[in-house]
Amino acid sequence: MNKHKPFWFDQALASTTMPEMPKLTEKITADVCIIGGGFTGLWTAIKTKKLAPEKRIVIVEKGLCGQGASGRNGGCMLTFSTKFHSLIRFLGLAEAIRLVKASEQAVFDIDAFCKTHQIDAEVRTNGAIYTATNTHQVNTLNQPLDLLSQHDINQWKILSLENVNRSTGSHRHLAGIENKAGGSLHPGKLVLGLVKYALSIGIEIYQQSEYKDIQCGELPVIKTCEGEVKAKKVVFAVNAWMGKLFKRFNRHIALVSSDMIITKPMPEQLAEIGLRHGKAIADSRIFVHYYRTTPDGRLMLGKGGNMFAYNNNMLPAFDQPSRYKEMLVNAFEQFFPTLDKSFETTWTGASDRSTTGLPFFGSLSKENNVFYGLGYSGNGVVQSYLGGDILSSLVLSIDNAWTRSRMAKGPLGNFPPEPIRYLGANLVKRSVLRKELAEDNEKSAKWFDCQMAKFAAAAGKADK
Ligand SMILES: Cc1cc2nc3c(=O)[nH]c(=O)nc-3n(C[C@H](O)[C@H](O)[C@H](O)COP(=O)(O)OP(=O)(O)OC[C@H]3O[C@@H](n4cnc5c(N)ncnc54)[C@H](O)[C@@H]3O)c2cc1C
Repeated sequence: MNKHKPFWFDQALASTTMPEMPKLTEKITADVCIIGGGFTGLWTAIKTKKLAPEKRIVIVEKGLCGQGASGRNGGCMLTFSTKFHSLIRFLGLAEAIRLVKASEQAVFDIDAFCKTHQIDAEVRTNGAIYTATNTHQVNTLNQPLDLLSQHDINQWKILSLENVNRSTGSHRHLAGIENKAGGSLHPGKLVLGLVKYALSIGIEIYQQSEYKDIQCGELPVIKTCEGEVKAKKVVFAVNAWMGKLFKRFNRHIALVSSDMIITKPMPEQLAEIGLRHGKAIADSRIFVHYYRTTPDGRLMLGKGGNMFAYNNNMLPAFDQPSRYKEMLVNAFEQFFPTLDKSFETTWTGASDRSTTGLPFFGSLSKENNVFYGLGYSGNGVVQSYLGGDILSSLVLSIDNAWTRSRMAKGPLGNFPPEPIRYLGANLVKRSVLRKELAEDNEKSAKWFDCQMAKFAAAAGKADK
């Protein structure tokens, strides 16, 4: 295994003793076999077990649970509310309203779950702030609010400039909106806490047990590198790896990196600029800057949209220190010119972008006993909790709002085939960068760049 471990995962592993989770080396049977031990797999296992305690539930994970996106993300708790327009467009108004509300509630449910089960995931439900750092962003920042208000579900408040500067710890922002449903957490501690809890309620977890093949049928058979699971129901919760496991998914997602940098603890300096809360803060770029602090006084800053993978190959660079350190340091300097540039480390990871920017779930087999969920598009900390609702309902064949949702009925669009996707993604990326640079300089972006940037609009944290 790669020696480099992303910061949160490394810190979480060092701060706890994990129970032994063996490799699967024999043939076993189960009611439910879940492939992948990240947030999606774990929430699905836990929610299924809660609804049906008698079921034998097995998770097979190719490495260590949490080693994927779940143990390395920014830990920003963001909801579906700024994607309301897309939700209406793709899923219908009633479902859009339901999902916005469910995602806002999920922020507090994750917090309550951690408190109830003594998972110290450093959850801080202090809210989320979206900001504008140039006039173009100022003009689009409030757009989602009008639509939410029309349907009486707007929880965002427009901040005065004074409040924006005070709450974000930075004078780089020109405007901001805040929602109390949001916050931040320690993703590594959450994922390992979920693992321990899952084990405590009788879920079996096999690590170092890579899925190799499935024989579909009435009783699907999962082959792992050294073992086999015959299960009545199967769930693929492998996120960015799905396109490689099943060709049919390769066109539904595109892998793109998010790159992160984190400081050494500097609680006094952060207190001086008013940044000792756990709010998640993001600007309004397509390739967004986002940041949050930690309870021990570190500041983490991330930026999405940097490195695309040809044909969705899981590049070694996705599991190494960031290649974009200089860019991250520059962004840090722009947001926080007075803070020490005393960085602990950088890391990166692959996000599974869907064409809509929304996750999708569904069934893979004609027997309706093999399910999947992916496509969180960089917004999965809160959304994977809802993914657990969708997948547990599918697994248990429950007729409810989750299984009836269009979100549970497969992908909503295709990317072009390779090499067009890769070439196109890089062309679009360059246009987005030029457009956002022009806007930063308060100039009009070129028409061509504006048109090309529209292809990447779904990658933003908010609809435009
Ligand atoms: C760098 C980065 C920053 C992010 N920041 C944020 C953020 O701040 N806020 C937010 O909401 N979202 C963020 N996200 C997105 C979020 O992390 C993900 O959407 C979420 O963690 C997805 O969880 P998952 O369980 O579906 O996938 P993963 O956590 O990736 O889990 C998939 C698991 O499947 C396993 N697996 C793969 N192939 C196999 C196989 N063949 N056999 C067995 N197991 C297999 C993997 O090892 C992995 O453990 C970020 C993502 C990245 C990469």
